[in-house]
Amino acid sequence: MKRNFFLSLGVALLLVSSISFSFQKDERVEIYDLRHFTHPTFTRIVVDIGTLREYSPHELPSPDRIFVDIYQAKLNPILHNKTYLVKNDYINQIRIAQRSPNTVRVVVDLDFSKVKRFQVWPAFDPFRIVIDIYPSESILETPTEKPPQPAKPTKEGYSMARQLGLGIQRIVIDPGHGGKDPGTIGKSGTMEKIIVLDICQRLKKLFDANQDLEVIMTRESDIYVPVENRTVIANQKQADLFISVHANSNPVKKRSGVETFYLNFSQDPSVIETAALENATSTKNLSEMRSILEKIAKNSKVMESKELANDIQKNLVLTLQKKYKDVKNLGYKGGPFWVLIGVETPSVLVEVSYLSNAKEETRLKSDQYRQYIAQGIYSGIKEYMNSLGKGI
Ligand SMILES: [Zn+2]
Repeated sequence: MKRNFFLSLGVALLLVSSISFSFQKDERVEIYDLRHFTHPTFTRIVVDIGTLREYSPHELPSPDRIFVDIYQAKLNPILHNKTYLVKNDYINQIRIAQRSPNTVRVVVDLDFSKVKRFQVWPAFDPFRIVIDIYPSESILETPTEKPPQPAKPTKEGYSMARQLGLGIQRIVIDPGHGGKDPGTIGKSGTMEKIIVLDICQRLKKLFDANQDLEVIMTRESDIYVPVENRTVIANQKQADLFISVHANSNPVKKRSGVETFYLNFSQDPSVIETAALENATSTKNLSEMRSILEKIAKNSKVMESKELANDIQKNLVLTLQKKYKDVKNLGYKGGPFWVLIGVETPSVLVEVSYLSNAKEETRLKSDQYRQYIAQGIYSGIKEYMNSLGKGI
């Protein structure tokens, strides 16, 4: 009897320990880094998480602060109760702490009277949460800056940039993907990252003839650049235009053609599909974007971006059809692309053709087709710039 009792106790203990073992299995993801960058027009905070987690942003007054709770997460010990001092007029500091056993909280102490807006958005592969904070215009004013000088004609008359006055001086060209992220891959192995880099290099060459324009690439070789860094490059360099170049893919192999996107929400399933592909995320995550887009719609350059998308799409199709008559014009449209969020300037994403379509993959492999694409995008940007210069 006694023996049986101990035996049962032993079994029970075994059971308890195995149950508690399964409970102890840690489902929390470890947060291993927080980075922040202060740029002339905004501050970006990136929390490196690695695996998709739910989060919720909040704001509270007196003292003014924004905080983001990240669930099912724990802090790497080196980040425990860490404080980052930020050297600008509108943010005091950033704090990160383990709020509860399953929740990590990031707090930004700031001054709401000096902040225009903020947005919190996810970036993927690996998963990160990005917090962008934009100061009010009065903070951005720099009284030491020289007043703008009126444009003077050269011997040949007004150059393009001079005609534009306050117009375009710096263009950022963004070849999609790169490094460990190949983008979409065609049936015969053609990688999007290689194709779009070549197109962007050709496009840059076309602009190089114009001395008044500076063209900056987000990558010049086959390297990985996280999506949030691409916008940082555009804003840091105070670019006037941002052009992201991609090749498309679709499970429907016969789908083909050229389309150009500006940042907006879309109900069109084919647009959502393309956005999910380019964002390296599921279509479900895109629903989060609606609230972000609603907030920024009033402030962003939607109208200019739409105009730029129209000009690029029109010229790209016209140029290609000179040689390749059957190229389909899929139009210009709004789409929820993370890479366009936070770009403080007219910005578009061009899908130059479908790598999933056998005919277009063959074309994309030829130098001539890629040169036509570069030429078409170039003509589109030029048309947009000329339209800005009208009447000056
Ligand atoms: Zn792409």
